[in-house]
Amino acid sequence: ALPIVAVVGRPNVGKSTLVNRIAQAQDAIVHEMRGVTRDRSYHEAEWNGIHFTLIDTGGIEMSDDDAFQGSIRKQAFMGAEEADVVVFLVDGRTGIVPDDVEVARILKRGKAPVLLAVNKLDTPGVEDPIWEFYQLGLGDPFPVSAVHGNGTGDLLDAVVDHL
Ligand code: GDP
Ligand code: MG
Repeated sequence: ALPIVAVVGRPNVGKSTLVNRIAQAQDAIVHEMRGVTRDRSYHEAEWNGIHFTLIDTGGIEMSDDDAFQGSIRKQAFMGAEEADVVVFLVDGRTGIVPDDVEVARILKRGKAPVLLAVNKLDTPGVEDPIWEFYQLGLGDPFPVSAVHGNGTGDLLDAVVDHL
């Protein structure tokens, strides 16, 4: 089985956008049936010759608990327990919110290495508000723009370093 990379984070931070950006170029079926794969949660992906399964945890149905709080917590637990590497995605425009602190706390207890990615930084270098994210205690944040692709190469380099 391929190693698992799970993208975890609260709703609307850009998990699906990031996962689709990373997986799309390699997802042969996307070229044949445009749109068909956009809502899938599991993708095969590859970077620098290393293949892995990329999971958009936000797309996974959380059957026995519809509550937002319970669901995001479960996604974090799932990431921490089943993934070989977790990408914890936060929103660089809103800054840290209490759910981010809670997810970080759960992920730090897990055994999988966690890479913190700060999304929606569409204009690189312009007063990147990444510094506050050091407070989450997950090391150096990776600034990215899932929409434009900025920073995703550096993030993926770090991801495959841990596989
Ligand atoms: P998810 O709920 O975490 O899967 O988030 P989505 O991928 O659905 O994205 C939520 C919203 O944020 C959408 O409107 C996206 O277009 C937007 N978004 C995602 N990534 C970026 C980004 O890098 N920059 C900007 N400006 N918006 C983004
Ligand atoms: Mg999503």
